[in-house]
Amino acid sequence: MNIDIFSLTIEQAHKDLVSGVYSAKDLLQACLANINKSNNDIFAFIEVFEDAWDMAEKADEMISRGEATILTGIPISIKDNILYYGHVASASSKMLENYKAVYDSTAVENLKKSGAVIVGRTNMDEFAMGSSTETSALGKTKNPRNHDYVPGGSSGGAAASVAMGGCLAALGSDTAGSVRQPASFCGVVGFKPTYGSVSRHGLIAMGSSLDVIGVLTKTVSCSQYVFDCIKGQDEYDSTSISLEDVETKSIKTIGVPKDIFTMDGVSQEVKDNFNKALETVKSAGYEIVDINMPHLKYALPVYYILMPAEVSTNLARFDGVRYGLSVLGNSIEDSYKKTRGEGFGKEVKRRVLLGTYVLSHGYYDAYYNKAVQVRHVIKKEFDTVFSQVDVILTPTSPTAPFKFGFKQNPLELYASDIFTVPANIADIPAISIPHGLSDDNMALDIQVMAPYKADKSLLEFTATLESLLQ
Ligand code: GLN
Repeated sequence: MNIDIFSLTIEQAHKDLVSGVYSAKDLLQACLANINKSNNDIFAFIEVFEDAWDMAEKADEMISRGEATILTGIPISIKDNILYYGHVASASSKMLENYKAVYDSTAVENLKKSGAVIVGRTNMDEFAMGSSTETSALGKTKNPRNHDYVPGGSSGGAAASVAMGGCLAALGSDTAGSVRQPASFCGVVGFKPTYGSVSRHGLIAMGSSLDVIGVLTKTVSCSQYVFDCIKGQDEYDSTSISLEDVETKSIKTIGVPKDIFTMDGVSQEVKDNFNKALETVKSAGYEIVDINMPHLKYALPVYYILMPAEVSTNLARFDGVRYGLSVLGNSIEDSYKKTRGEGFGKEVKRRVLLGTYVLSHGYYDAYYNKAVQVRHVIKKEFDTVFSQVDVILTPTSPTAPFKFGFKQNPLELYASDIFTVPANIADIPAISIPHGLSDDNMALDIQVMAPYKADKSLLEFTATLESLLQ
């Protein structure tokens, strides 16, 4: 059976499965054929789960009993920081290289209930810290479009797993852009939902006030199906929320921060491409409104204070006693030092140090508390803007995809987040969709942000936008 995964959507696969054109096992087989063909080179998947076959068999049974959901039999990959009972979840770190999950994350539990087939786990920047997947301790993932280029990060493996035809959807996590930016680099859709709308239970924490599980797929409606399955309030995550009662709104006015065209670090090709998108949107009858967001430029510095603070706290648990790697030293303190010294990579150590510093006595008020205050100011600014416009449009990434080793200076990599990080700071939903090509023939993008909890309106609108921009 020849199934073309590269052009297949979840809707079409579902129709084919329930009408018996092929089985869930055939569909899995088609994905595995693509993985076998190119994963040695691309390294999107760290591991393909052997029990995916059992899941496909169960899916076929559900289908034959007439109990199929839209995701039954759909092959989905999960990022290596999402717990799946009995399977390794290493956050692509030596610290957790052999750590097996002792329970299911809520997102995985929901996927299992729906009859989805979990194909394997995907490579990522270590503990989700990075923008190119180069900080993974397990190896580098290549961009399926051109292997000299990075796939973006930190969910680079997730984005590549969809782009290489290894699955129809991928779960990633987004703390500052880790779903949207790699999606953009690999030419797929990346959706970061409202903070709390998907439970963080079973997601290995990076920055708990910013982390959210998101979805990467070929089309916006595919993302919607997966999001509908994994979202919801959860007793295991006190910050989780329900979106059930939120009404959808039709989108008419689109805000564009006017600084985009004069900002440093945004490449000319990105500006030109964004301008083209604006023209298309305008001619389709939407009203474009210039918006003023003077505090937006502080989102990045605020993030690089709050995130390391939360990282240093969250990663304190990896002490060689409770989880994963354990290197024995002469004393308990020596064991801590050796375990953390050997288990963590350079970028993780940098952030733990930075976080410990901003939380330390004497600096707490100057850095951490100040950043918390500025976060509120940025949130308020979004509230004001969303009283004037329905959504905000920006590029996703300030530059086109780059080659391996191109951005060596960490600050340069941190700057990749300028357009994506504001949505995490403000807890709001945002999506990246492919649009245009770079001078090097790599994928470019646009990003749409919507008000808090307006995920459904955002997805409906971007589904329209996606067809307009084709
Ligand atoms: N580039 C961001 C960082 O390095 C991405 C983090 C994320 O979203 N997980 O922190």
